[in-house]
Amino acid sequence: MMKKLFVADTPKMIGKVVELYGWVASKRDHKKVVFIDLRDRSGVVQVIGDEKLKELSQEDVVYVKGLIKERPKNLINSKLKTGTIEIEAQKVVILSKAKPLPIPIEGDGYQIDEEVRLKYRYLDLRRERLKNNLFFRYQFIKEIRHFMDAKGFIEIETPILTKATPEGARDFIVPSRLQKGKFYALPQSPQQYKQLLMLSGFEKYFQIARCFRDEDPRADRAYGEFTQLDVEKSFTSQEEIQGLIEELLVMVIKKVFPKKKFLKVPFPKISYQEALEKYQSDRPDIRQSQEDDVLAFCWVIDFPLFEWKEQEKRWDATHHPFTSPKKEDLPFLEKGEYEKIRADQYDLVLNGFEVGGGSIRITDPKLQAKIFEIMGHTKEQVEEKFGHLLEAFSYGVPPHGGIALGLDRLLQVILNEKSVREAIAFPASSGGKTSVMDAPSSVDEEQLRELGIERKKVKR
Ligand code: ASP
Repeated sequence: MMKKLFVADTPKMIGKVVELYGWVASKRDHKKVVFIDLRDRSGVVQVIGDEKLKELSQEDVVYVKGLIKERPKNLINSKLKTGTIEIEAQKVVILSKAKPLPIPIEGDGYQIDEEVRLKYRYLDLRRERLKNNLFFRYQFIKEIRHFMDAKGFIEIETPILTKATPEGARDFIVPSRLQKGKFYALPQSPQQYKQLLMLSGFEKYFQIARCFRDEDPRADRAYGEFTQLDVEKSFTSQEEIQGLIEELLVMVIKKVFPKKKFLKVPFPKISYQEALEKYQSDRPDIRQSQEDDVLAFCWVIDFPLFEWKEQEKRWDATHHPFTSPKKEDLPFLEKGEYEKIRADQYDLVLNGFEVGGGSIRITDPKLQAKIFEIMGHTKEQVEEKFGHLLEAFSYGVPPHGGIALGLDRLLQVILNEKSVREAIAFPASSGGKTSVMDAPSSVDEEQLRELGIERKKVKR
């Protein structure tokens, strides 16, 4: 058995006998003649036959050998890519029988309860809409890699089992078996590693990176993990990073989504202050009307470096603690007027959604230590959590900056989807249940014993 042909290629092969493999998308039994639509990832084609087709049911996996025949003019189906031809079946073999499906896979599927769709995600993905979303996602990422490569960036993988890197969310932690009582954290982003790579001298880094954040459930989120285009460059400026990302997005979107229009290129830059005053949001939607095919990107700049956390009674970094204050605002740091310090930070917004953020980084270890201190870390905590970074910065660190784009969110908006989960193959629900494989789930006592972990009843 060897599949050589997609059904979408059959119209080019009129008069040939071909072998096709795929799923029975539908069956129409007219007693003497039976029609099926044979589906593979490229589309569907009509197969016509006699009793050979009778025993097939929907979603069976089949082998069909048959003659490609041109359809008479009046039977051409213009809605179908293969509508000019049909296959006259000579041999049909059922490779796998299918039970009736628990969810319909025709149509867009929006009306089906999402929990059920996620439980049967492997069937949900047979749906044309989701299949197309994943193909677009693949092409989008492929073009990004192509572009970054042409610009001289190299992709470097960074660890998943690591130490906490704060981005403002809770960490996922993984118990260590070899060092009982100790834990790894999953990275909220590759932030520290990409900065260390600048220190190592790579100068231009990118990664299609998975990030893990234990955030509170929100309807429009996939819980737990997401994918970023993560970028870092040495000897750079805000303007250079912004220019690079604009060029990338315009190029890649034009190629993969040629029907989309950009509201404005270069993307407008709006200060945080102006965004709040004019749009009452730091994620402004700058479109006049909500036209579907228009992409309104803008940059929001000049964010405050710190925000006051009333509950915890402490200053926190607005972005993350590695973001550099603006040089001209450094005097406020000395005077303790922290609310007045602006950051060298930029967020990218698309149609009212935050799709990216980045900054020029702190490279002075003294300044970095001071920022941690303002955020309420003691000297010992700084040493314990970030001593490695401060030490690294003492061995010759180039000035650097970067950005990360949230690819799931970006694709959701471009694809006009209501939820980010529609752009991900196997998303977790907003409540944190994984697709198909019911995690989180309990583990064996034996596994816990090996990890040195004991279960204890806690009162809530
Ligand atoms: N690590 C940041 C984030 O995930 C992006 C950056 O500053 O480059 O938001």
